[in-house]
Amino acid sequence: MRMRPQILCIIGDSRSGSTLLQYLLATQPGVAAVGELRRLAQLVREGRPCSCGHALHECPRWGPILARLDLRPRPRPRVSKRAGEAAGLLAGVPLGRAPARRAAPAAARAADQAATVYRLLGEQERCRVIVDSSKDPGHALELALNGEITVHPLYLFRDGRAVVHSKVRRTNIDPDVAIRHWRRLTTGMLWLRRLRAGTTVHYEDLCADPRAVLEPVLAPLGIAVHLQDPPAPVTELHSLGGSPGFGVQSVERLHPDASWRSEAPAELLRAFDSAAGDLNRRLGY
Ligand SMILES: [Zn+2]
Repeated sequence: MRMRPQILCIIGDSRSGSTLLQYLLATQPGVAAVGELRRLAQLVREGRPCSCGHALHECPRWGPILARLDLRPRPRPRVSKRAGEAAGLLAGVPLGRAPARRAAPAAARAADQAATVYRLLGEQERCRVIVDSSKDPGHALELALNGEITVHPLYLFRDGRAVVHSKVRRTNIDPDVAIRHWRRLTTGMLWLRRLRAGTTVHYEDLCADPRAVLEPVLAPLGIAVHLQDPPAPVTELHSLGGSPGFGVQSVERLHPDASWRSEAPAELLRAFDSAAGDLNRRLGY
C-alpha cells in the first residue's frame, strides 16, 4: 500500500509569515504546498484562480482533483447547531474520533473532504508531505476527526505589534478589530497547542536562520533540508487563496520585515499594549 502524505498544517494569523514559511517548505523535494485548502469550495464558487494563473478547473493540479470531488454546497447549519458542533468537537477530541464525529458531522465532512484532496494529490504528485496553509485553528482541529490524516501542526507566531501594524496598513482595518482578532486567534492557538502537540515557529527566527527552523520540522518526516541563498524559486506553485503573496514563486531575501518599529503609530502601539501586551510578552516579544 502506498504511504499517504503527511500533512504540515500552518496555524497562525495573517501577516505572520505564512507565505514565507509555505514558500520555503515548498522549495524542498517531496513537499507540495496547497495554500488555504479550507477555502477550496468557496474559491471555486467565486471563480478565483490558482496561483499559477489558471482557473482552478483548468489548473494542471486542481483540474483533475476537482473532477473527482463533490463540492456541492450544503445548507449551512444554524448558529446554535454550529456552536453545538464546536462544543462537541472540543469535548470529543480528547475522547477519540468516533464520538467527536457524531457530535460534529459538518466538521467531520470537512475533514473527509480534506482527506480526499490529500490522497488524490499524493497519488497525482507522489509527494510525501503536503503543506496546508489554511491557518485556522478550527481547521486543524477538524482534521483530527479523520483517521486517514496524519497532521503535524505548525504554530506560527510573529510579534503581534508587527502583525497588527501590517494589517492596518494593508487593509485599513479598524486597529481595535485587528488587535482583538490577534488576541483571540493567538489565545486559540495556545489552547490548541496544549491539546495537539506540534512545532512552534517564530517568523523572526525563520528569517534569521531558516535551516534551524525547518530541520526539526522536516527531518522527522524523512526530508533533508536543501536551502540556497537566495532561496531557489518554486518552479510550479499551485496554491489556493490567501494574500497575493501566495503566488510568490521566489524571494530575494530573508531579512525580517521590522518596519513596524519605526512606522507604527504610537497610538496603535499603546492600544495594542493595553489590550494584548501581556499575551505578546508571553510569546517572548
Ligand atoms: Zn495551478
